[in-house]
Amino acid sequence: MDVSRRPLKKVCIVGGGTAGWIAAALMAEHLKGRLFEIELVESDDIGTIGVGESTVPPFLQLLARLGINEREFVQETQASFKLGVEFTDWRRKGDRYFHPFGATGAPLDLSDFYQVWLKARANGYQGTLHDLSPAAVMAHAERFTLPQEHRGSPIAGASYAVHVDAKLVARFLRRFSEARGVTRTEGMVQDVIQRPDGFVESLRLKDGRTIQADFFVDCSGFRALLIGKTLQVGYQDWSHWLLGDRAIAVQTENVASPRPYTQVFAEDFGWRWRIPLQHRAGNGYVFCSRHLSDDEATSVLMSRVEGAPVVSPMVVPFRTGVRDRLWDKNVMAVGLAGGFIEPLESTAIHLIYRGLEFFFRYMPDTDCDPALADEYNRRMIADFEEIRDFVILHYCTTQRDDTAFWRECRDMRPPETLVHKIEMFRANGALAEGVDDLFKAPSWQAVMEGMGIRPRSYHPIVDRIPFAAVPGEIDRMKGVLATAVAALPSHGDFLKTHCPAPQMERTPVPA
Ligand SMILES: Cc1cc2nc3c(=O)[nH]c(=O)nc-3n(C[C@H](O)[C@H](O)[C@H](O)COP(=O)(O)OP(=O)(O)OC[C@H]3O[C@@H](n4cnc5c(N)ncnc54)[C@H](O)[C@@H]3O)c2cc1C
Repeated sequence: MDVSRRPLKKVCIVGGGTAGWIAAALMAEHLKGRLFEIELVESDDIGTIGVGESTVPPFLQLLARLGINEREFVQETQASFKLGVEFTDWRRKGDRYFHPFGATGAPLDLSDFYQVWLKARANGYQGTLHDLSPAAVMAHAERFTLPQEHRGSPIAGASYAVHVDAKLVARFLRRFSEARGVTRTEGMVQDVIQRPDGFVESLRLKDGRTIQADFFVDCSGFRALLIGKTLQVGYQDWSHWLLGDRAIAVQTENVASPRPYTQVFAEDFGWRWRIPLQHRAGNGYVFCSRHLSDDEATSVLMSRVEGAPVVSPMVVPFRTGVRDRLWDKNVMAVGLAGGFIEPLESTAIHLIYRGLEFFFRYMPDTDCDPALADEYNRRMIADFEEIRDFVILHYCTTQRDDTAFWRECRDMRPPETLVHKIEMFRANGALAEGVDDLFKAPSWQAVMEGMGIRPRSYHPIVDRIPFAAVPGEIDRMKGVLATAVAALPSHGDFLKTHCPAPQMERTPVPA
């Protein structure tokens, strides 16, 4: 045992967007201020990206980890609940499917429900998979409840996330972090001073102040000030698989009660999102700039939004991919500085949380032993690749051929890892799942089914079940679920009674 070890005494987080404040909040709460001092530097002149409003279910674990009361958080961030994502026009124009969160059906005998359903379909059963997904049935009925409060009911199988106002989240987490001892410094980082071995020693701000630390978390967004500009760590570009490279984002007034799901609509050269919050809706168009100009994309988006705009449309360029190393020397990149997978499945905030989880697992001393960094990088890049493959699945399985964009998507050769997954699935619905994957079997099954990929056969073990009663049993389960959902409040009523957000003043801008 090395008793002369030099533990980290000070960590500096560069950037105060969602990534910076999640990093600050988790470090402050997890380490209880006992291990090292935390300073966060951000520039008001640069600001944050301000998009990123749809989350996935582990976001609620993040809140729990921080000890944040979910109801209070929903109120303070004008949040609504999210039971999944509705996809329109992806497989073909006029097609619609739903990617629900949580379980679909319940296992029968030794078999996953999906496998039993596959056999039933092969034998003439007509019901859909979604009839047995509590999240999908609730979403389509625009009803909501907290599944954890319905133990013993099929509703308990649902899972959910939230839609949040990104600016209010950063504000909430800033207050949370500062109350736990994080120091916030406003200022623009102008120079990064390195030691002879390349480690970052200090930051020099525009006004001449200097910030010294043992370890730096680069949350500077797409600028990637430390990991990219200073350490010159390379970037694996995935834009040949995920063609979107720009987004137009705009916020609008709500015209109806918020839906409990994100909507994504395939457009001619990309796709559009609609994210309902309590006080407004977020909208955007992710598109490929080789096929569409900013002006054209803006005009498509503005012709499709439901309510009056409350801000002017904003252009956000991006490059899908990941750093070769997310942790290099004494710099760890979290958030957009480390990589970005286009937002179709709303996974970026989740990857921020994972980045911190792995930091706690492999936390270094000041020497930043490369073995720890290597493992961190291996785990994080595996997460990025798993999510990348899941997102590409939505594109490469399209049957659309009406524009050059969709023909490129349809004709691409996906990553070999995804080719393998699709081939296995086509064989008998088997999935190459990792224990730690974000997207579990029901997610893959929902998207495969939605995109028209049905296995050639079902798993042989299903033949253990005497089959005659199976279609009737599925219908019974479907009926129980439908009855349970019919008794739930609407999503709008649930928000009003359970977690109403304060009214916010805003002035609509001319369209
Ligand atoms: C179009 C689009 C849609 C998205 N939708 C979703 C979604 O639905 N769900 C989801 O999970 N994620 C989504 N994301 C991703 C999400 O927006 C980001 O992951 C999240 O906001 C984190 O951003 P960040 O904190 O890394 O960067 P930013 O918000 O850009 O923050 C960067 C920070 O660094 C500071 N900074 C930069 N340079 C300097 C400097 N020189 N000196 C001092 N400070 C500096 C800035 O002031 C700022 O505080 C989306 C992203 C895009 C592009």
